[in-house]
Amino acid sequence: MEDDLGKIRNLGIMAHIDAGKTTLTERILYYTGKSHKVGEVHYGNTVMDWMEQEQERGITITSASTTCVWKSHQINLIDTPGHVDFTLEVERSLRVLDGAVCVFDAVNGVEPQSETVWYQADKYNVPRICFINKMDRVGADFEMCLESIKEKLSVTPTVLHWPVGSEENFQGVLDVVAEKLVVWEGDGVDLKPKYKDIPSEYIDKSKHLKNALMEQVSEFDDELLEAYLSESSIKIEQIKKAIRVGTIRQKIFPVFCGSALKNKSVQLVLDAVADYLPSPLDVKGVVGVDKSGKEVLCKASFNAPVVSLAFKLQVDEFAGMLTYLRVYSGTLKVGQALENTTSNRKERVTKILKMHANSRTQTDVLKAGDIGAVVGLKWTKTGDTLCDRKTYVLLESIGFPEPVISQAIEPKTSDDEKKLEECLKKIQDEDPSFSFKENQDTGQMLVFGMGELHIEIILDRLDREFGVKVSRGKPQVSYRECVTAQATHREHFERMIGAEKHQATAMVKVEANSGDKNKILNKSSLSENEASFAIQGIEESLENGSLAGNRVISTTVTLLDSGDKGDFVPTELALKVAASKATKKAMELAKPHLLEPVASMEVTVPKDFLGSVVGDLNSKRGKINNVQALGNMQVINAHVPVSEVFGYATTLRSLTSGRGSFSMKISHFERLPEKLESQILYGS
Ligand code: GDP
Repeated sequence: MEDDLGKIRNLGIMAHIDAGKTTLTERILYYTGKSHKVGEVHYGNTVMDWMEQEQERGITITSASTTCVWKSHQINLIDTPGHVDFTLEVERSLRVLDGAVCVFDAVNGVEPQSETVWYQADKYNVPRICFINKMDRVGADFEMCLESIKEKLSVTPTVLHWPVGSEENFQGVLDVVAEKLVVWEGDGVDLKPKYKDIPSEYIDKSKHLKNALMEQVSEFDDELLEAYLSESSIKIEQIKKAIRVGTIRQKIFPVFCGSALKNKSVQLVLDAVADYLPSPLDVKGVVGVDKSGKEVLCKASFNAPVVSLAFKLQVDEFAGMLTYLRVYSGTLKVGQALENTTSNRKERVTKILKMHANSRTQTDVLKAGDIGAVVGLKWTKTGDTLCDRKTYVLLESIGFPEPVISQAIEPKTSDDEKKLEECLKKIQDEDPSFSFKENQDTGQMLVFGMGELHIEIILDRLDREFGVKVSRGKPQVSYRECVTAQATHREHFERMIGAEKHQATAMVKVEANSGDKNKILNKSSLSENEASFAIQGIEESLENGSLAGNRVISTTVTLLDSGDKGDFVPTELALKVAASKATKKAMELAKPHLLEPVASMEVTVPKDFLGSVVGDLNSKRGKINNVQALGNMQVINAHVPVSEVFGYATTLRSLTSGRGSFSMKISHFERLPEKLESQILYGS
């Protein structure tokens, strides 16, 4: 029944914060029968934004995925957050989506975050339809929105709805394809769309819109073009087919309008999702590599070998760890043995769940094209590929940003202290852009994340979900350390512990290497077993640099012969400590320096603001790489130290009257200017 695949829609809803994404999603869940009442954002009881923090802040921060059915189509809805700190969530959603609805506020048109996600969706080739929401609001202006789509997104919108009335007089929409007027009858959330003949005063408008539509779409279907040119009769289905082809090729972007809050047009958007957005069969399949590195195309077919991608992990109070998978080919079954080709480990699926925000139903199979959560995987992390054991395909992983902000935390009670590490580990499994470690000098726990809000939300979860209370220091940039010279050090360790005498000598050489990774070489005559303990000691020291305890990068450590004459047997513990101390001392001698994270930024601004934005980036120690025109916008590519762009969203908003948008990712680490380094290390 591979026909079923044609009826799956892996769908994302994208928008600038407050455009109405959550409100629309709630309606979708209601109309598809997945929820029995409609939650409202302002009451904090929506179904998709189920984490307490989301309900309080009215923002969406995790990609909860849920399945619902509309007119025999299975819609897997993947929620995508709008805040820059959660770009990992957006990126991972885009990896597994096939199509998206972009929601715009009819009063504001295209806003910065929708611009950012629009271009992100371009990067991932995601076909989109547009929904101009809030037509009932004072100031709603459909034509202004069309203009702003043209201007800011550099695409020609394909108008499939035209509003009849607006603000409090918003009564209905002209359905351009069907040449009908749609109004709503009934009460509240149970309003139903009714198709009527077009009133005489709108007939000209409707004809004009239909002609414009035909001009745009007839190129996607030869028969349609012929019929249009010869003015013979054209079936609605034929037009829809052409719109579908154009949309999937991302040549056209159909535009609809309505009011999610007033329950107008939501069903029509669902129809459009079914009619125009791609099924897994319409996308060309995902490309991975086999063992020899040769490219393999995994087509959406139920009978092919299983190839799937883990795109999210979530701790679950009933099931333990849930792993969200997108199956690209084959049929995954309960009990199935899998190979994690990313980490070369064996896994077994014990349960398959279809998720509905925070509730679920159990199922036996997950077929190609589908998305679901599985239970039982022990070694799988976000971004890993899972295949059946006879197959080897490795898909591109999901790129994780390196955490760049750190914050010291302190458990409030000894009870909190006991649980802290275990709970942080669980959160890290879910969210690879978060990490933590103990500062060896101060004993303080440091947490690392992508931004201030990211860490704040995690600490909030720590309290509410895990009941662990902590006090927190100020957020800071997380530095790295490197060495800039070569140095060798020999260290002898000797101590009585209980009745046993522990002693060992280790000698190491440290030097800089040109990559960003560390290398550990063994040129000693220690046995393999002994060397492994010494190497553990070296690794420990590299985690805590000699300057200020930051992680060391770009450094090669060579374990050398220590010159011990074999008059004692070194113990494991002594080897580890001696090698660790030798490394630390050698690093102190090898002219260590601090490195700071540098972001690669793409700032998109209207021409008029270019000068002031570039000037500001220069004053932030930024290096402008290039400036390119994109429609009416200018796109600045720059490298800027992360410490200089804390709160950049606010800066850019005030520099550009809210018209600028930016995306940034961590590019590399660079040596701090000496003056700043000494200020950080010695306070002067
Ligand atoms: P999100 O941040 O994109 O998820 O936006 P929300 O769904 O949270 O909506 C933001 C605010 O706009 C809330 O107060 C909603 O009640 C309101 N809202 C959403 N849709 C509409 C609409 O169609 N009309 C009006 N007037 N308000 C709306």
